Amino acid sequence: MMDTETLPATDAGLARAAGLLRGGALVAFPTETVYGLGGDARNDRAVAAIFAAKGRPSFNPLIVHLPDLAAARTVAVFDARAEAVAAAFWPGPLTLVLPLRVEAGISPLVTAGLATVAVRVPAHPVAQGLLRAFGGPLAAPSANPSGKVSPTRAAHVLAGLAGRIAAVVDGGDCAVGVESTILGLEGAPALLRPGGVTVEALEAVLGAPLVAGGSEVRPNAPGQLASHYAPGAAVRLEVTRPEAGEVWVGFGDCPGAALSLSEAGDPVEAAARLFHILREADAMAGPEGRIAFAPVHEAGLGRAINDRLRRAAAPRG
Ligand code: AMP
Ligand code: MG
Repeated sequence: MMDTETLPATDAGLARAAGLLRGGALVAFPTETVYGLGGDARNDRAVAAIFAAKGRPSFNPLIVHLPDLAAARTVAVFDARAEAVAAAFWPGPLTLVLPLRVEAGISPLVTAGLATVAVRVPAHPVAQGLLRAFGGPLAAPSANPSGKVSPTRAAHVLAGLAGRIAAVVDGGDCAVGVESTILGLEGAPALLRPGGVTVEALEAVLGAPLVAGGSEVRPNAPGQLASHYAPGAAVRLEVTRPEAGEVWVGFGDCPGAALSLSEAGDPVEAAARLFHILREADAMAGPEGRIAFAPVHEAGLGRAINDRLRRAAAPRG
């Protein structure tokens, strides 16, 4: 358990918060929708710590928060439709799912290994101030333990996450209180989640109806993400004795393993490395090869790691 600082929404408070974020720590902050739990989106360990603090049982992708459209363009590819809705609704409670710019260095844990990224420019002055003081992209899901109600004031954040995060910036009550609308623009415009910006307002700007339901990445829909995560190689789990020809990926003490999620058996380190290791093991094994993962304890972040590994091992159709 750590002491969680409550920081004022002053220049000094925001400078302190930005310093904590640069050091890889987690800071909750107000947006116009709900309080977000921020971490450096380019830092694998910071992003892994977000999942650990929230107790999320799966690595569903996170929204990247940026100070303005120019900053968002460095992280995602904007087409004419994306430019139009951004001009109309940013800063504001609208998240866009767009093709990822790989060169931006966003952690694959933020995108859950997808080729798309969710980006948003919040309107709240404290969120704006923090993003500018920090000077980089912040991954920020709602600042509540997984499965609990989203927080709309600093006291709610502390009730759920005190002792698990470095600080919360107290900016009073959130105005909107519901999450951002998520609009997918990879193909036909799709409403991935209803929220602070209405469908009617989006359709008016796009000049086209939204495709309903869409393909929001839901953590609990089994196999939904499998194709994005599945290595070309065949994957076996819970392996303590690898077979000849398998690339063995260890966790903890695994003498002879080709790779390791974490030699120390640290689940936060394992989560931070997970997508990098999946890629590396796949390259080592080759398309006809086989990968064998050592068991990871099914507790805390281990649950999310095992969820992802099970998807990687699932039979493909
Ligand atoms: P939260 O973490 O509570 O702010 O929720 C973030 C939402 O954004 C989740 O519903 C995710 O599934 C969705 N999301 C984030 N990134 C993507 C993406 N690349 N594609 C589709 N949905 C996404
Ligand atoms: Mg949430």
